[in-house]
Amino acid sequence: MDKVAIDLHIHSLLSPCGEEEMTPNNIVNMALIKELDFIAVTDHNTAKNLPAVMAVAKEMAKETEKGLCILPGIEVTTKEEAHILAYLPTLEAAMELDQIIYQHLPDVMNEKALFGPQTIMDENDQIIGEVDKLLISATDIGVDQLFKIVTDLGGILVPAHIDRKSYSLISSLGFIPLELDVKTCEVSKKETFENVKKNFRFFKDYQFIHGSDAHQLEDMAEREFFLELPDMRRQTLIHYLG
Ligand SMILES: [Zn+2]
Ligand SMILES: [Zn+2]
Repeated sequence: MDKVAIDLHIHSLLSPCGEEEMTPNNIVNMALIKELDFIAVTDHNTAKNLPAVMAVAKEMAKETEKGLCILPGIEVTTKEEAHILAYLPTLEAAMELDQIIYQHLPDVMNEKALFGPQTIMDENDQIIGEVDKLLISATDIGVDQLFKIVTDLGGILVPAHIDRKSYSLISSLGFIPLELDVKTCEVSKKETFENVKKNFRFFKDYQFIHGSDAHQLEDMAEREFFLELPDMRRQTLIHYLG
């Protein structure tokens, strides 16, 4: 068993609320400085910076001989206005989910002056495009439908920051639907697992992880949140979470 340091909820500058410093290279370098083992860059309703993030991590692994594993992910806003982390086994599966989500976003365009740019970068942190639809809109995908889509792609769901009063599955529905076959819920950095379990008794049946939900570099997790995993394969982590 290995003690694996994780931060599975990080936003790049592609999220309208993500700071400009959250470039693919800066995120990967910061994760290496902090000596994290497994990270996930989970932008709102998009995976379009994941090709760059994963390319950078691969390149850095060659240069530094330090292994940083990337779990492909997206923070999806369901039609219930709940934020759900979707984790996928491969970049290809994440890009497929990206396509599906884009079709389910309303035709509301991003107003840069209001929300900031939604920047897509390559592995050299060069800007290669922007997403035109506003990414913080809710999709019209229900949480049960999302479960089916993501499962079909080999992935799993983790309801995000379930202790929060807005944009969580608990704040929008008040409970986790029993038919929703999730095993793990994410709790904000500041809240304790014990408190959450005390406040919502049905949470006794779930396991928890912490994620930083970082929108700037300094907010990324330190080597502070650990999982016990037998190896460092993505599939192992996905199996543990779902
Ligand atoms: Zn969120
Ligand atoms: Zn987030």
